[in-house]
Order: sequence, then structure tokens, then C-alpha cells
Amino acid sequence: MPPPPDTCFLCGDASAGVAPCRECDGVVSVCADESHLAAHRPRGLGRCLPFAVVESADAGRFFIAANDIARGEIVVVDEAALVAPSMIPGLYPANLLL
Ligand SMILES: [Zn+2]
Ligand SMILES: [Zn+2]
Repeated sequence: MPPPPDTCFLCGDASAGVAPCRECDGVVSVCADESHLAAHRPRGLGRCLPFAVVESADAGRFFIAANDIARGEIVVVDEAALVAPSMIPGLYPANLLL
């Protein structure tokens, strides 16, 4: 199931502001929301990520590959929901440890 060509790969927007990504020859289309373009082409990564979000009545919203994925290729970049200090003594200053 390829991503619909005229809808944003992330939010499904199908308005006139949706355009094919120029960096990956339109593998996916992106809406005018800059955060959606950043999800497709994270700063510092230097390339587009090969995923899209689609929706079905049976399964809801889910990720699919937008093109072939090479072994070891980064598919998604996301921030950690929680970062905890290491329990290795001396790795962090004592005032950071609880
Ligand atoms: Zn969007
Ligand atoms: Zn792209």
C-alpha cells in the first residue's frame, strides 16, 4: 500500500499546500506544516526518511515503507520520552543523581 501521492505523508492533509518532496523526487508529499517536513527530513541527517503514515478502517494509523529500505538504514528519528542518569559511579556529578 503506497502512500497516497497527493496527501501529506504524516498527517494525511490533501489540501492545495501539499507538494511532493523535492529532495527525494516525490517519494512522499508533505503539507505546509514545517514540523512535518522536519519529520521527513530531520536536520543534520542529510537525507529523507523512507516512511509514511497511512490509515485503514481495520488497523487505524500505522507506518509503512515509502520506498525500499536498505539494511541498516535509519527509518525513523524521534526524541527519547525519558532520559535517566546512569547508575555508573562517577559518570555524572553527584548533584544530578537522586
Ligand atoms: Zn502534514
Ligand atoms: Zn523527501
